[in-house]
Amino acid sequence: MELSRLTVRNFRNLAALDLELPSRGVVIIGENGQGKTNLLEAIYYLVLFRSFRGAKDRELVRFDEAGFFLAGESNDRVTAGFDAHRRRKKVTVAGREVKQLGQAVGRIVAVVLSPADRDIVAAGPARRRRYLDVLLSLSEPAYLRALTAMRAALRQRNAALRRGQAQAAWAFDIPFATAARVIGERRRLWVEEQAERYAQLCTELGERMTPAMAYQPHGGHDAARDDLEASLAVARERDLRRGMTTVGPHRDDLKLTLGGRDMRHYGSAGQQRTAAIALRLLEAESLRGATGTAPVALFDDVFAELDSGRQERLLALIGELLPGQSIITAPRDVEVPAALFDRPRWQISGGSIAQ
Ligand code: ATP
Ligand code: MG
Repeated sequence: MELSRLTVRNFRNLAALDLELPSRGVVIIGENGQGKTNLLEAIYYLVLFRSFRGAKDRELVRFDEAGFFLAGESNDRVTAGFDAHRRRKKVTVAGREVKQLGQAVGRIVAVVLSPADRDIVAAGPARRRRYLDVLLSLSEPAYLRALTAMRAALRQRNAALRRGQAQAAWAFDIPFATAARVIGERRRLWVEEQAERYAQLCTELGERMTPAMAYQPHGGHDAARDDLEASLAVARERDLRRGMTTVGPHRDDLKLTLGGRDMRHYGSAGQQRTAAIALRLLEAESLRGATGTAPVALFDDVFAELDSGRQERLLALIGELLPGQSIITAPRDVEVPAALFDRPRWQISGGSIAQ
């Protein structure tokens, strides 16, 4: 996958950019706060149509402007515009507005590696569910459709529960359970298929203890294997009391362990970062398998904190798993391994790029 052109208008501190991106990619150097991460956020916005940093659309609009606009060209031209006053998002693919965002998701496929990825390992289960949901949504449209359906049913069920309207809530049991089964099954299957590869990648990156990952259904309830409708029925009183749906894949976790102990609580900073990088490489490999092309790699200052041994091992894995276009950012040249300077070097300052 290759992004040949990028247009940015009023996205964060990026006022106006019209870039032709080289097919190998580019190294972007700029001091802190100049717009490096903003640029990667803009590119990745064209993948999922939301911020990879979890920001709201209106926070992405350049201060004092009415909206932002982005366009990227790969196989298709994909655009995304957001109007802050009307709170309206408009997405087009090949010149036609899409009715549902899902129709445009995955036209451009990219993977971001950033120091913030440590949160996948260190933060709560929601962050790890999002990791699985993003990669499975980009891999298969049916997953994204099931996820959208599950969330819609869940939202309505929970709203009814909060109002204490029992019958209205139970009406969503079947639509929720139907979509939830697909989500539970696909997540579990992917984790089982990739568990060994995950451990191998951690080890190749320099981890000496034994890494493992496993899908962990909340409270032992497995939407993929058990009868979720029956469990929903059993949990009814509790759900009404708490005003929320207490069983289902929206509460599951991806358990990451090192030597059998939960990495979230016992992993060191470096071990958590290594595991997060392994997960991103796994994401890249998995997306390549599903889509038939290597995703665009977005590296946000990832080499900085790694010792030279880990840097070299990571470079070797990148060469193998992300051989295509890569956009690499760093505050200083020296933070970027010399091997990556076989591509042009641009400077970014105050949201403007000098080539
Ligand atoms: P670092 O090396 O510290 O990670 P960076 O180059 O990645 O820096 P970014 O996160 O891309 O920096 O940009 C941060 C800058 O963007 C800040 O100066 C911030 O004030 C500015 N900024 C953030 N949101 C907006 C916005 N909506 N409108 C205008 N400027 C914004
Ligand atoms: Mg940054």
